Amino acid sequence: MSDELNTQKMLVSKIPNGTVIDKIPGGKSLQILKILGIKDEVENTIAVAIRVNSKSMKTKDIIKLKDRNLSIEELKKIWLIAPQSKISIINNYKVNEQFTLSDKHFSNEFEGVLQCNNPTCATNMNEPVVRQFYLMQRDPILVRCLYCDRVMLENNIRDQL
Ligand SMILES: [Zn+2]
Repeated sequence: MSDELNTQKMLVSKIPNGTVIDKIPGGKSLQILKILGIKDEVENTIAVAIRVNSKSMKTKDIIKLKDRNLSIEELKKIWLIAPQSKISIINNYKVNEQFTLSDKHFSNEFEGVLQCNNPTCATNMNEPVVRQFYLMQRDPILVRCLYCDRVMLENNIRDQL
């Protein structure tokens, strides 16, 4: 079997339950695995395809996670770096729910997820204030803390995801 056929076979094999993240911009899946806390110890079955040919995108990555659901926090983090990702929730071999993250109506103004990197920001001082940010730009990503106006750059943000 050719390599291409093997790749296709891997992509079409279905998972009984879990989550499929499709249409990830080519090469970004490792960042998403990091967001999901998948590093050195893996307990469930995971299939990752990196830079496969795509009609709508030049290349894309796909992640299939058996027996794994994503939290809102995780979805928001993925939305920050790959908003066009398509999420499919699989139950009993069937797609139970499917959506593109950018259609999930996560606002450019969002709570939590990140921590302001200004050490003297009130959100870092154990004060009862909510961490709130504004997504100013993507590629490269720029996020502003709504409390102290500190702008965080891609590097600051990536370290936190
Ligand atoms: Zn701040």
